[in-house]
Amino acid sequence: MFPTSIAGSLPKPSWLAEPAKLWPTWRLAGADLEAAKLDATLIALKTQEDAGIDIVTDGEQSRQHFVHGFLESVAGIDFAKRVEMGIRNDRYKAMVPTVTGPLSLKDRVHAAEARFARAHTSRKLKFTLPGPMTIVDTIADGYYGDRVKMAFAFADALNQEARALAADGVDVIQFDEPAFNVYMDEAAGWGIDALHRAAAGLICTTAVHICYGYGIPANVAWKAALGADWRQYEKIFPALARSRIAQVSLECRNSRVPLELLRLLDGKDVLLGVIDVATDAVETPEEVAAVIGEALRYVPRERIVPCTNCGMAPMRRDIADAKLLALGAGARLARQRFG
Ligand code: ZN
Repeated sequence: MFPTSIAGSLPKPSWLAEPAKLWPTWRLAGADLEAAKLDATLIALKTQEDAGIDIVTDGEQSRQHFVHGFLESVAGIDFAKRVEMGIRNDRYKAMVPTVTGPLSLKDRVHAAEARFARAHTSRKLKFTLPGPMTIVDTIADGYYGDRVKMAFAFADALNQEARALAADGVDVIQFDEPAFNVYMDEAAGWGIDALHRAAAGLICTTAVHICYGYGIPANVAWKAALGADWRQYEKIFPALARSRIAQVSLECRNSRVPLELLRLLDGKDVLLGVIDVATDAVETPEEVAAVIGEALRYVPRERIVPCTNCGMAPMRRDIADAKLLALGAGARLARQRFG
């Protein structure tokens, strides 16, 4: 009962990349960098295992950013042609690369770290990829002339990599779709269709992570404007419940999402965010168990997977480690209390 997992990323050691950055600079280059990424992956796996995390990830130690780590392996993108674009419905601006031709995967994207992680843990292994809707919200279109068409082209590339990851022995493939609660109507329509295309034919478990974003100032201001009750998910949960994706990951600790909305995810496993990644305050096991207890009012116990709210990449490493321990201890407490 209550197997634990994490949303995906963990902080990188300071010898691998600049700490506390969403877009860190690597400390090494060439073969040294590739070896160091795998060393850091080993640490990420061991840290999760020691904290009692049951479904572990590579901590995303091999990628600089959760979207661009994938894009680097896609042909049809001009990284030199950067344009300023309003992202997440103009919440903030970013300089993004441009799609200039038909998209296709040049090569495997995550083979090295996925196979390495598989060889070094006997626990269930989850691997994360960006979702098609979030990708098209993070790149300019100079070729397709149609966001949906471009999203489906990315979905085909994602599917190719996802199938290969499953063949590498990955147990869960999770698509990260923070754009889903920005474009609610589109998410419930072509967003989920594109996700289905990305997950087509997968023999492993599938998951989608949705969230209100990292603690960057633009997100904090946006969240402050959303009022006391965040009901955005009301629009997309019924569509997700009807989807072929098995698990939904979302933030529930310190979030204003009314947990009664979880009822709308009937039939899905809920990767229940019980660890806030936007504060350095470390949760107590008691606090973790309390969120699990509240979710139990709306979700069957066998469908609850205690998890972090979001990725922990930009956090301080010692704090992230302490939060992992709190997650493991809180789930143990919940098993005693609600078992
Ligand atoms: Zn997130």
